[in-house]
Amino acid sequence: MTLRDWSDAKGETTLEADVVVVGSGPGGAAIARTLSEGGLRVLVLEEGPARPRFRPNLAHTQRFHMQENGAVVAQSLQSFVPIAAGRGVGGGSLINSAICWRTPDYVLEKWTKALGVPHFGPTPMSAIFDELEELLQIAETPEAIAGENNKIIVRGAKALGLPGGFLRRNTPHCSGCGLCNLGCPTGGKASVDRNLIPLARAAGAIVQGDVRIEELIFEHDAVVGVVGVVRHPETRVEVGRLTARAPKVVLSAGAIGTPRLIAQAGAAGRLGPAVGQGLHLHPGNAVVGLCDHDVTMWRGATQAAWFEDPDLPGVLPHTLQAEPGVVLMMFGKVGVEAKALMPLLPKMCGAVVMISDKGSGTVSARSDGRSAVTYDFAPNDVERIKAGMVRTADVLLAGGAREVTAPVRGMGLHRDSKSFAANLADKTIRDFGLYAAHPMATCRMGTDPETSVIGPDGQAHRASGLYIADASVFPTALGVNPQLTTMAVATVIGRQILG
Ligand SMILES: Cc1cc2nc3c(=O)[nH]c(=O)nc-3n(C[C@H](O)[C@H](O)[C@H](O)COP(=O)(O)OP(=O)(O)OC[C@H]3O[C@@H](n4cnc5c(N)ncnc54)[C@H](O)[C@@H]3O)c2cc1C
Repeated sequence: MTLRDWSDAKGETTLEADVVVVGSGPGGAAIARTLSEGGLRVLVLEEGPARPRFRPNLAHTQRFHMQENGAVVAQSLQSFVPIAAGRGVGGGSLINSAICWRTPDYVLEKWTKALGVPHFGPTPMSAIFDELEELLQIAETPEAIAGENNKIIVRGAKALGLPGGFLRRNTPHCSGCGLCNLGCPTGGKASVDRNLIPLARAAGAIVQGDVRIEELIFEHDAVVGVVGVVRHPETRVEVGRLTARAPKVVLSAGAIGTPRLIAQAGAAGRLGPAVGQGLHLHPGNAVVGLCDHDVTMWRGATQAAWFEDPDLPGVLPHTLQAEPGVVLMMFGKVGVEAKALMPLLPKMCGAVVMISDKGSGTVSARSDGRSAVTYDFAPNDVERIKAGMVRTADVLLAGGAREVTAPVRGMGLHRDSKSFAANLADKTIRDFGLYAAHPMATCRMGTDPETSVIGPDGQAHRASGLYIADASVFPTALGVNPQLTTMAVATVIGRQILG
């Protein structure tokens, strides 16, 4: 039996499959494709909408396509970091910026050593990246659609002799409208609902939206199914309950969603002390430049340029793409201050400075089912963000900005990076306007059940039949944007399940 959509789910429904996959982002889509092409009957259950409901409007995007309505926040005594996570069939790929990096070799080598297995090594992973890059039509962003905001970074990096350029992205038909983070309006982005999910469906997978899983069914030490609530996509009123039974259950609800689900299901103690521990975020801050010419930073390919400074390993600056409302929010401007800033908005350019973080946090669930997230910065991380911001100020100035500033309390405008650095020097993390979109490593893969949740084969150490395949399984932070790694790791886990 299948459900056509939520309206078929009145009362209690029970479905059966060989494998149930919870979540349909890059991880869920990749493992669903792998397992269904391998001949298994796969049922994918996704909390968000079955089909994209994009509108170029942030509030609408938050309501339909962001987990917890865009209000996931990591809190600690030091700081407050909003975390973006996507929702819907396609998960984060629906609203992400489409940047596609392969996992750096040094990260894969570290994983291989820690896991003691060869399949996450640079050579086998390289073959999987080749395959995924072809399926997702990943290519360098053409200059013709890049827009001035990206070009300033490329020009600046070149002028300073720093490595950098236009980013590789999964946007084969991009027109450069700059709306990726609200959902691509033209189908120009090859999000996973346009490739891996259709491939899974073509091989027989069933994909149901509007189902939020809340319970895991245990029989002795094995997980044999899940139970969830089917909700009306508009009102979110419960219309029914769904039980899905399968000898194998894969959690792909993301690095926030997977530990949140395990905690909500009351299974965190059972699956071991590492559930929800070790959250990495790739946190960072932005640098904004003010130019004499028009840039309109909200147009052009979203986040399509990068550079690096070899003296700052693990610091990865790339384009900041922000619409006017977001810029006003970043700088905390309202009333007459907002009015004064308005004429300057088209002249702004920007870059975000993201770091491979040593700081870490935790994810669990509140009684209402929302996530409870903490995060503590490592002191050196803050200094690395600052150093990256200073170098980014140099790049924006070299690329065409007249002055630079940052969403940091009391920063002001600076004509050179020396005075920018001097102003930044005594700022603490409490002064920063922080943001993160790369939660990861909260249900790690490893060999020790005390410090990891799943083994190198993807199966939980303490529950047979339960697998995890999403960004939560990374054994460390990545240092690069994670969607391609998530797909590759999930593909490897899927192939191990197939044997
Ligand atoms: C605004 C933004 C920009 C980004 N830009 C980039 C970028 O340019 N490049 C890049 O590499 N990465 C980017 N990322 C990060 C990238 O999208 C994520 O790392 C990636 O999506 C993680 O994949 P995942 O499968 O682990 O989880 P997700 O993509 O988060 O998918 C998890 C899915 O599970 C569903 N779910 C959660 N809980 C439940 C439940 N209980 N029951 C049923 N379903 C559930 C969610 O609705 C979601 O659809 C960005 C992210 C955001 C939000």
